[in-house]
Amino acid sequence: MTESEAIEELKYDCNELGKAIPCDTSWGGSFENAYRMAIQALEKQIPKKPIYIANLGCTALWLCPVCERRIIRSDLVYCHQCGQKLDWSDEHEID
Ligand SMILES: [Zn+2]
Repeated sequence: MTESEAIEELKYDCNELGKAIPCDTSWGGSFENAYRMAIQALEKQIPKKPIYIANLGCTALWLCPVCERRIIRSDLVYCHQCGQKLDWSDEHEID
């Protein structure tokens, strides 16, 4: 199962199970929060391309695509601030 498939499964389950749980109770709120957090955590496991900002000579300046934190090191696997997994698959195309 991929992360995307797991997200779809969780969304479906949340929707189906949620029908039986009153959302205006603390139980219902916890249920929705738990699913939302699980889905967000999975989404961060799907690599996203950093946003290219500028060439700094020997390196380049990028932004995290989720939280827009500045990233200098292109070997960073996860954003230090939000935990988003980063996709550097075509970084070598930058001149
Ligand atoms: Zn981030």
